[in-house]
Amino acid sequence: MEILIYIVFGILGLLVGNLSNVFIVRVPLKMKIFNPSFRCDTCKSRIKWYDNIPLFSFIFLKGHCRNCKSQIPLHYLFVELINMILWIICALLFWHIDMLATIIFALTCSILVIIAHIDFSHKIIPDRFIISLLLLGIIATIFCGDLPFYERLIGFALGGGILLIFYLVGRIISKREVMGLGDIKLMAVAGLIIGWKGILLALFTGSILACVVLLLHQLNKIKKIKMENKNNPQIQVDITNIKNEEYPLAPFLVIGIIFALFVGNFIIEWYTNLFA
Ligand SMILES: [Zn+2]
Repeated sequence: MEILIYIVFGILGLLVGNLSNVFIVRVPLKMKIFNPSFRCDTCKSRIKWYDNIPLFSFIFLKGHCRNCKSQIPLHYLFVELINMILWIICALLFWHIDMLATIIFALTCSILVIIAHIDFSHKIIPDRFIISLLLLGIIATIFCGDLPFYERLIGFALGGGILLIFYLVGRIISKREVMGLGDIKLMAVAGLIIGWKGILLALFTGSILACVVLLLHQLNKIKKIKMENKNNPQIQVDITNIKNEEYPLAPFLVIGIIFALFVGNFIIEWYTNLFA
């Protein structure tokens, strides 16, 4: 019977992933979600329902538009597959603990993927996704039995509070915005969903990941500029420009939140056992 649950969650994940693609493309452009109907990015021909079945249409069409044969961008398939995987992991980890929490966590993962994708390509986190997460968090706080309700409320305060302090301190020291307000709201509502222990782990993981990746990215950029100016050693590389460049933070925070959601309990247990 259990295998059936996982199959159902896998299919739901694919369907939600398919819908997520619409949100990812249309929300930042302030377009209506279902109007106009879906069209090929290249030839603008209307996509029929049977060419929009998650995963299967992509395989059947071999990743190309039926009309103009142009390649369908791979990130559509990636969003569907990652949603399928996340939904199945949620079912595996949480279904036997709390069924409502499982559905809330799965939906949370899908919204987080949308947020990461939109922040990565547009550097914004639209409020409607934060509000959706807030509603899920409120439902979880009232109805889910997997965590005491106060752990979720503390998570809300800590997730938002810690980033708000960083935001204010960063603004005073560097005289500019070191992160967006959207990142603060994101961590507050995520704290409401995964609780205070989870959100601390998410902050820790997300910020370390962000530091490592951004540092490597900046070093790579400086190296590239130096290589380009190899013949003019007198040209100084202007590092301040590279340092002050704006980077999206939400994708790293999202990875931290999903990591904390899935393996947080094991890590927290292991960590408390160290001192027991
Ligand atoms: Zn086409």
